[in-house]
Order: sequence, then C-alpha cells, then structure tokens
Amino acid sequence: MLAKAQVAEVLAEHGQPAYRAGQILDWIYRKRIRSWDQMSNLPESLRSGFARDFPLRPLTYCLTKGSRDTTRKYLLELPDGRYVETVLIPASPALYGERSDRHTLCVSSQVGCAYGCRFCASGLDGFTRNLTAGEIVSQIIMAEELSGEKVNNLVFMGMGEPLANFRNLSTALEIITADWGLNIGARRITVSTSGLVPQIKKLAEIPQQIRLAISLHGPDDETRDQIMPVNRKYPIEELFGALRFWNGRKKQKITLEYILIDGVNASPGHAALLAKRAASIKAKVNLIPYNTVDGLAWKRPGDRACRAFQRVLTSVGVPATLRLEKGHDIDAACGQLRLKKERGLATD
Ligand code: SAH
Ligand code: SF4
Repeated sequence: MLAKAQVAEVLAEHGQPAYRAGQILDWIYRKRIRSWDQMSNLPESLRSGFARDFPLRPLTYCLTKGSRDTTRKYLLELPDGRYVETVLIPASPALYGERSDRHTLCVSSQVGCAYGCRFCASGLDGFTRNLTAGEIVSQIIMAEELSGEKVNNLVFMGMGEPLANFRNLSTALEIITADWGLNIGARRITVSTSGLVPQIKKLAEIPQQIRLAISLHGPDDETRDQIMPVNRKYPIEELFGALRFWNGRKKQKITLEYILIDGVNASPGHAALLAKRAASIKAKVNLIPYNTVDGLAWKRPGDRACRAFQRVLTSVGVPATLRLEKGHDIDAACGQLRLKKERGLATD
C-alpha cells in the first residue's frame, strides 16, 4: 500500500507527470480497486511496474467470528502464510448513546509480540515479524468491505506492540489520516503501547493529533515487574516522565488501560495508587476485567471487587470506565484467534 511520496517517486522513475499521483491515490483509496489493471487511465508499463512492487490486496480473508451487531473478529492471511486478526466493534449504546454511529476497528501491528507480558495471548508464541504499512492499512479496507460499514474509530490494540514497529506505524498513520488516503480523523485514532519510553516521545512529535493509551496494569514497579517484562527496561517513573512529555505536545487525555487480575493488581491499595498516578498526568482509566486465555492461569476478580476498584478512582475525580460484560465468547482478547489457527484449533 502506498503513501503519496512513494507514488511520486515511482512516477518520477517512470518519467511520468506528477499529476498522476492524485489519480492513482484516488483509485486505491476512494474507488478501492482490487487490481492495478483496473486503473484504465494509466499506461500499461506504469501499471505493471506498480503491480510488481505494490500489491493492492496483501491480505486474504480467512474466517469471521461473531455476527452483525456484535463484535466481529476477522482472521486474515498474510502473503507469507501467517495470520493476523482485526476486530470490528459496533457502537455500544450503553457507552456512546443510542444514536451513536461509531464503528471501532481494532488492528494488529505485528505477527506475535516480543514483549512477553505474562497474561497476554499475543506474546505466547513470541515475535514473528512486523506488519508492513500496507498490511496495517489493508485491515481497515478489508473490514469495511466485509462488513459494509465505514470504520470511523481506530485502535491499535490488536496483536503486537505498535511502537516496536515505529516506521511502518507512522507510514500507516499518514495514509489513514490523509485526505488522499482513508481520511479518518486523527482524534479518532488511539495507539496503545506497553510503555516504550523513547518511542512514546518520538510519537509525541508526529504532526497528527492522535490519542495514546498505555497498558499500565500495575501502579508500581513491583506489581508491573511481575507481569510486564518491559517494566524492567522502562520503569514507572521513566514511563510517567514520557507521558508528561506527551501531555506537553498533544491535547487529548491519555488513557491508562488497566486489566484487573485477581490476586495480582486488583486490591484497594493498588486502586488508590493508580488514582494518584492517573491524576498526576490527568489521565482517564479504562478498567478491563481479565479475559481468560487458554493455557494461562490468571482470572478476573468478582464483579463486586471490580466495581469497588472503580469507585476508588471515581471518588477522587479520576474518570474510570469498567465494562463487565464478557467479550470472550469469540476469543476477544488479542492474539487468541490467530494462535488457535496456527495451532490448528480454529473452526468455521
Ligand atoms: N502491545 C500493545 C498493543 C496491544 S493492546 C499494548 O500492550 O498496549 C492489547 C490490550 O489488551 C493491552 O492493553 C493488553 O494488555 C490487553 N490484554 C492482553 N491480554 C488480555 C486479556 N487476556 N484480557 C484482557 N486484556 C488483555
Ligand atoms: Fe505484547 Fe501488548 Fe500483549 Fe504485552 S500486552 S505481550 S506488549 S501485545
């Protein structure tokens, strides 16, 4: 998949006029053609040059879990036979009001993940490779085609650590937000990271006003060290330094993602410290009761304990959402469907 600068480069190599860039981008992102042959207003030699280097459809549809009006998870095959998953979440009236037309897509940024958080399915089989910018953008195009719906909210919360694939992520963000590209507003895009400090600062400097979510999952080094190896490299104080830097550059509130895991990070003491941390950077908190993962022993606390945890935050004025309904009927936690497929367990 192509960004504007690449198109211009290839045109120059072929001695073609620059105005063709607009035509080509229009074919790819507006008309959504599937093959370069369909670009009838381009000379044949140019078309075959592009076709060789830039496949328009790098992903092949494999299977869907879920149905209309519920969360739908698409499993997509990459050119090298690996799999990624992308999840379409329809507007939730409870969260966004009856008339919300929000369609959120959760995209993957890598095959597997090198960060090995103890609770996460994506890291279970380690890291395989980065997705290209084209493979990231194609997830959106495929989800729109398969569902017939326009994606207008995007979260990088699928498989992988987006900030460990920084270059392709920033090219993808350019294509996704550009008016010649998918034209999705930057404020409707959230990049989630487990806390890669240098890359958070780098991302703070990109021109798009995107949102940032941090997978915090522990309010202190002791708790975080137990479940997230990345914390040994970038401990909490350093992480929060980067978040203050972010706040100096970007306007939107940071979200702290916090999975509630029974007996690990869900005590009232954890809640009180989390409240302080969140207040110090004016962040909001998204509490997520843990979804069980095959092969892992962690579990979520009871609903009452989850609500009590939330109250500690809201009682001191920290905005905190909690969703108790379960998404795991379709293996909604990241990485699970793809793992099943690669281990030969996926059905449908
Ligand atoms: N690597 C990035 C992007 C992935 S986001 C990051 O970690 O932020 C995927 C989110 O789902 C993360 O917040 C992750 O911590 C969370 N998650 C992973 N396994 C989960 C599980 N079993 N139940 C609930 N959330 C989970
Ligand atoms: Fe990787 Fe994020 Fe899962 Fe950690 S939570 S293993 S960083 S995908």
